[in-house]
Amino acid sequence: MSNGKSILVDTSLCTACRGCQVACKQWNGLPGTKTKQVGTYQNPQDFSSDTWKVVRFADGKKEDGKPYWYFFTDMCRHCIQPPCKLSIDMTVKDAVIQDEDTGAVVYTEKTKKIPFKDVLCPYGIPQQYPKTKVLVKCTMCFDRIKNGMIPACVKSCPTGSMVFGDRDKILEMAKKRVADLKKTYPKATAINSDDVRVIFIVTDDPKKYWKSAAGG
Ligand code: SF4
Ligand code: SF4
Repeated sequence: MSNGKSILVDTSLCTACRGCQVACKQWNGLPGTKTKQVGTYQNPQDFSSDTWKVVRFADGKKEDGKPYWYFFTDMCRHCIQPPCKLSIDMTVKDAVIQDEDTGAVVYTEKTKKIPFKDVLCPYGIPQQYPKTKVLVKCTMCFDRIKNGMIPACVKSCPTGSMVFGDRDKILEMAKKRVADLKKTYPKATAINSDDVRVIFIVTDDPKKYWKSAAGG
């Protein structure tokens, strides 16, 4: 296999418009979910079997007392050595596919045979359909990619926060962008870039964005 594909998510360019969250639902035929206002613009509050991408909102005060308001468009990282696949393979060998061309980690219907509690994911991504027990999550839109399109979330992004492409090129872009951001934000980093295909760039401690932003 080539080095496959990657998505770069530069959170410093994200305006939290949630276009990517909606595009994910639209392409995958996922219904809206009932939510309630809990004092944040984040909506919904977390993943579910009907929500595979969530724009997380986080605010607080930095060490210097200045306020921050960060956005983190959380989704499956499509790990290079995915702990979820490794754990599921122990029960059913071909329930999770790692696509040869892209490297996308894709769940099949066979995942319904797996006890949900046995599925390992440092980022808290997998969800389960309550009725069928099938496990679900982002597929990297590998069905779109196979047909010459880019992932729906990337396509919808109006600010250039999300970019899709060959992994080698994306890694190069991430390196350059982090070097640039570091001039203003010394803590800027590309989270776990050697281990994941969906690479988030942040300008501060990842935990300020989301507790599992860098894995847990
Ligand atoms: S982020 Fe979680 S669900 Fe996605 S490939 Fe990695 S281990 Fe699997
Ligand atoms: S579409 Fe782009 S700008 Fe809008 S929330 Fe998603 S990543 Fe952020």
